[in-house]
Amino acid sequence: MTGPTSGFNTRAIHAGQEPDPATGAVIPPVHLTTTYKQDGVGGLRGGYEYSRSGNPTRTALHEALAALEEGTRALAFASGLAAEDTLLRTACRPGDHVVLGGDAYGGTFRLISRVLSEWGLEYTPTHLDDPDALRAAIRPTTRVVWCETPSNPLLNITDIEVTAAVAHEAGALLVVDNTFASPYLQRPLTLGADVVVHSTTKYLGGHSDVVGGALVVRDTGLGERLAYNHNAMGAVASPFDSWLVLRSLKTLGVRMDRHCANAARVAEFLLDHPAVASVLYPGLPTHPGHDVAAKQRSGFGGIISFRHRDVEDAALKVCERAQVFTLAESLGGVESLIEHPGRMTHASAAGSPLEVPSDLVRLSVGIEDVEDLLADLDSALG
Ligand SMILES: *Cc1c(COP(=O)(O)O)cnc(C)c1O
Repeated sequence: MTGPTSGFNTRAIHAGQEPDPATGAVIPPVHLTTTYKQDGVGGLRGGYEYSRSGNPTRTALHEALAALEEGTRALAFASGLAAEDTLLRTACRPGDHVVLGGDAYGGTFRLISRVLSEWGLEYTPTHLDDPDALRAAIRPTTRVVWCETPSNPLLNITDIEVTAAVAHEAGALLVVDNTFASPYLQRPLTLGADVVVHSTTKYLGGHSDVVGGALVVRDTGLGERLAYNHNAMGAVASPFDSWLVLRSLKTLGVRMDRHCANAARVAEFLLDHPAVASVLYPGLPTHPGHDVAAKQRSGFGGIISFRHRDVEDAALKVCERAQVFTLAESLGGVESLIEHPGRMTHASAAGSPLEVPSDLVRLSVGIEDVEDLLADLDSALG
């Protein structure tokens, strides 16, 4: 049994994942079933009637995620963006307004600016690390402040406690996309955030073999409304995807420790490299968000961006020459990845306020032997 006082890794391994009462199986089964036999009409065993509405493997993941983020309720979705869509259509009505960070994940910006805007959602991108800019962006109709810290791909840090206070003054919810930090390094709900969003595709899944998303909340009323729409809108996580994420949560702590240690070495190496103009990593004391990051999280994570001294072509060549770092989108898996945000993950932000510099390279530092990672970058940088 685990409780709220159990340590993080104990919760990651056991919360929601007690041995199967029927068989003693130590690992929760993948309940690949769409429907459940009823003992007489309405006689549900354990409340299950149809797998969009409820599935025991997904329930196990909900309990584990709620325990790790210290929320009252978690819900697992088919992707991070499915979670975001359900959240925004639950928290907002057409005509309502959202403030989001000026360098939010490109897919989040696209969902809001291209899809939900058609439905009537209004939005303002701003500098969330500046409380005055946030106050200036807020309108009477603002329902949500959407914050990513650290942000993708510029690794800007936002003070969650300060942002929560400003959002709450205005009667808005603070949503924190905690994908980059993971609950092992940062628990926004304990710092005043109302909702945590995850792309479980990234560190929570951790092995680049599942696409998924999650929401975790503190308020039980909001949790009820989201759970209703989770079923009513139907973008739920499949039993097998839920099982993959549960399997991965068990090693989240050891993986994150290694991601952080490797990334710290890679950041130092890049800092000294003549082809590198600047290194964006919150673990560096020179990073503008270092002190806030040190206050609100227990490690600096595995994502590093850097700007090449030369223009776009040189940055593209580094991405193409790397061998151990795989040229690919996504992040947070055990293997190291390299990408060019301007041409890849953030291409849809071109021409918008969220456009990223063309000399920028983003690394997702994996858990390989760090000497191999350093040698690879050295030869890719030329
Ligand atoms: C990947 C990502 C998302 C979107 O998640 P999907 O699982 O790809 O839908 C949202 N936020 C951040 C920070 C991400 O990196």
